[in-house]
Amino acid sequence: MRTELLHNSMFAMAATQFDGVADFLELNDELRERCKWPKRLITVTVPVRHDDGSTRVYFGHRVQHHLTRGPVKGGLRYSPDVDLGEVAALAMWMNWKCALMNLPFGGGKGGINCDPRTLSQGELERITRRFTMEMIPFIGEDIDVMAPDMGTNEQTMSWMVDTYSTHQGHLVPGIVTGKPLCLQGSAGRTRATGHGVAFLASRALDKLGVPIGEATAVVQGFGNVGSHTAFTLASYGVKVRGISDISGAVWNDDGLNLPKLSNHVRATGSVVGFSEADAIDPAEMLCQECDILAPAAAGMVITGDNAPRLRCKVLAEGANGPTTPEADAILNERGDVFIIPDVLCNAGGVTVSYFEWVQNLQRYSWTEREVITRLETQLEAAFTRVLQFADRFKLPIRTAAQALAVKTVSDVKAQRGLFP
Ligand code: NAD
Repeated sequence: MRTELLHNSMFAMAATQFDGVADFLELNDELRERCKWPKRLITVTVPVRHDDGSTRVYFGHRVQHHLTRGPVKGGLRYSPDVDLGEVAALAMWMNWKCALMNLPFGGGKGGINCDPRTLSQGELERITRRFTMEMIPFIGEDIDVMAPDMGTNEQTMSWMVDTYSTHQGHLVPGIVTGKPLCLQGSAGRTRATGHGVAFLASRALDKLGVPIGEATAVVQGFGNVGSHTAFTLASYGVKVRGISDISGAVWNDDGLNLPKLSNHVRATGSVVGFSEADAIDPAEMLCQECDILAPAAAGMVITGDNAPRLRCKVLAEGANGPTTPEADAILNERGDVFIIPDVLCNAGGVTVSYFEWVQNLQRYSWTEREVITRLETQLEAAFTRVLQFADRFKLPIRTAAQALAVKTVSDVKAQRGLFP
């Protein structure tokens, strides 16, 4: 199994990153092995009857990286490309994110190799319900708590709650997070990731002595994370000058009018053609002078090519993996860009998922104000821990964040010892 996992390029990358951090922490061989490999790799077949009467068997995967610090937490994605090695890599990264945020969770990830764009609602519902049934021996509020990811949403989570609860004979809302509010979802969940990105960017500017009310920003992506990042930054008084999406980019020196831009996107499906802004080349937009650059769309967009030309003070990684290792090395060498790495920067989402789970277990709901206040407290604590660790060991912030996360997990494993 080791060899099979390492044949996947994404898992190999996650493992190499881990090895580097383990070397720095001087982890002994036993802890290295126990921290690196996933506890459970589960693959199930999901036979589903299609609308035309035919039956197709899909493959569903779930990787539970470890359960040492609590149940595993992580998304479930529907995509034709889902592959066990990739799911295992994503589970490992979730693991470090939960540990860094001090959430009592291990990391998990799952996926079904289906293409949701080609399936009817009925087919999606049957896939979801059958997968949930197949997973029943392996999940539970205290074992594995899934959430939406690529190709899944609140509706998917609602079907999962219904299937699991029907099997248990009573409502179990804490079996998944990312639920709609009417089904005990959490206030503030939708904006949590973007809010966290903006909040941490403001904290970084504070460290650099740049007054937030005089700052400018550029945001790549205007979906869930990008739009909430932009709106929160604007609420702090930041001029958001440039925003892009998959179709193009728009620019306004005086700051974009975000409510009007949102209306335009709702009406046309894209930021392109917004009348109160100029068009700008999306790749060039990333290299414009600004205080905050927030890539909040795709992976690997800050590359060896554009890293030397970035003119931001803070790089706030809203997306997962937006910076290639080559770009990271260039930016570290330059030393003039404050990087808030993805594992910390976009952790607002999983943190409020944790709050959703806590509220479900308590059978009590918090107000949006309570959720956001607690989110900021938790992010601030993690930000401070990472900066202190980086300062103490003279590490880049990304390495410090990864090292702190791995140390949190390895300390608990060492403390619990080895059974039997
Ligand atoms: P989304 O689908 O809501 O929005 C994606 C946006 O990015 C859209 O505006 C799309 O047009 C744009 N986009 C896609 N490819 C682009 C490209 N090459 N250039 C410019 N724009 C592009 O997705 P989301 O939920 O906002 O997620 C964005 C990123 O944040 C992903 O990397 C995701 O893994 C990460 N993330 C999301 C959450 C969350 O809570 N949603 C949490 C943690 C991390």
